[in-house]
Amino acid sequence: MLSAGSWGAEMAASETSGGRRVGVIGGGIVGLCAALWLQRDGHRVFLVEPGMPGEGASFGNAGCLNGSSVTPMAMPGIIKQVPRWLMDPVGPLALRWQYLPKILPYLVRFVRSATPEKVRAEARAMRPLVGPTVPLMRELAKIAGAEELIHQRGHLYVYRSAEALAKDGFAWALRRENGVEVDEFDADELRQLEPTLSREYVRGVLVRENGHTSNPFGLVSAFVELFRRQGGEIVQARALGFRLDGRRLTAVATDRGDEAADAAVVCAGAYSKPLASSLGDRVPLETERGYHLMIRDPEVMPRIPTADADGKFVATPMETGLRFAGTVELAGLDAPPDWRRSRILLAQGRRMLPGLAREYAEERISVWMGHRPATPDSLPVIGSSRASPDVIYAFGHGHVGMTAAPMTGKIVAELVSGRPASIDIAPFAATRFG
Ligand SMILES: Cc1cc2nc3c(=O)[nH]c(=O)nc-3n(C[C@H](O)[C@H](O)[C@H](O)COP(=O)(O)OP(=O)(O)OC[C@H]3O[C@@H](n4cnc5c(N)ncnc54)[C@H](O)[C@@H]3O)c2cc1C
Repeated sequence: MLSAGSWGAEMAASETSGGRRVGVIGGGIVGLCAALWLQRDGHRVFLVEPGMPGEGASFGNAGCLNGSSVTPMAMPGIIKQVPRWLMDPVGPLALRWQYLPKILPYLVRFVRSATPEKVRAEARAMRPLVGPTVPLMRELAKIAGAEELIHQRGHLYVYRSAEALAKDGFAWALRRENGVEVDEFDADELRQLEPTLSREYVRGVLVRENGHTSNPFGLVSAFVELFRRQGGEIVQARALGFRLDGRRLTAVATDRGDEAADAAVVCAGAYSKPLASSLGDRVPLETERGYHLMIRDPEVMPRIPTADADGKFVATPMETGLRFAGTVELAGLDAPPDWRRSRILLAQGRRMLPGLAREYAEERISVWMGHRPATPDSLPVIGSSRASPDVIYAFGHGHVGMTAAPMTGKIVAELVSGRPASIDIAPFAATRFG
């Protein structure tokens, strides 16, 4: 593991070596992690971002750095649960019906990937990507002077019945098979561990290796500052495509003109699809829209980030208050937010933490919607593009982009620098979609 000192020394050594001029497209957590690792390798890096870095999906997520997140969304048997979720107005899944024709091919792939064999292979592929999240993120945060934003208190999953826990048996078996250690708690033990929780919960599973950031946007912003201090350049523009000379990249095309580049990394989150298809890679990327609701100065707050396993939302203690985040809405990139989805989180959160007030003045509440960049098999797209070895993909991290970002950034730097990736990235190839 690199120490802050050795990172600094390598930075200083590599500044003189020149490296390649690399354009990182997208200023979310994935783009920033990639940019920092690339700088460490001595490359001259510019970040192409049309808005404020960190204001995409990386802004309002639950902040969990869960190395245990190896299970895909499409688990065996999910198809049986979908109708119940869709019929339930406060359920964890919503679909705007006018979007159905557009998303149908994606859903077909999603359902087809939900076999036990595929899910096992996906979990095996994910573990090395997400497993080292806490030490890697802490390392980056330390160099950026933001180590206080990284915590390792574990992640707690809570259940309202022993049967509900048993229903998740396959998911827990998969995590265990991949080296995740867990502690199970009964109702009394749960009460002692997290006294703020409702007595409705009678089973808990704690994953001690997991961590969280108490301010996702603050973390990205600290990385942006470090990136600038290390000579990084921010180009405020939207990337439109690539200029190639045969298979070699010569420039990133943007709405503000061309930026000369020897290599480029596509980290535009849920907006990466047209960039990949301009290089001949047809990736079925979708947005799984998610929401959060925050309470400033809450009466109670769990110490450990806690997931209601049934409701599929997380309560995370943040620097700025208590954040309830979760739910999936399938409605595409352009539909306006449906803020009722955030309000549902408040009702469910109150049920989880009965010590919260019955009513809140609007000024103590804030809501947010963001686009998870999702693939049908829940694996990200990481690796070279079909058209050029100089354009590297790093998008599609779905529900685990915060978690997977530091290892993804490391892999990106390895590929751009011509070294083998430190983990097996074959399962993440864009070509898996045909
Ligand atoms: C409710 C919710 C809760 C979540 N909770 C967690 C969690 O607890 N743990 C976890 O690991 N993950 C979580 N996630 C997922 C995580 O937030 C995402 O996977 C992650 O933020 C994706 O990061 P990104 O850098 O790929 O994308 P983004 O943060 O969306 O960044 C992409 C950037 O690209 C820019 N861009 C778009 N188009 C272009 C273009 N053409 N040219 C240049 N730039 C462009 C955008 O402006 C944006 O800034 C959650 C997501 C949601 C919605």
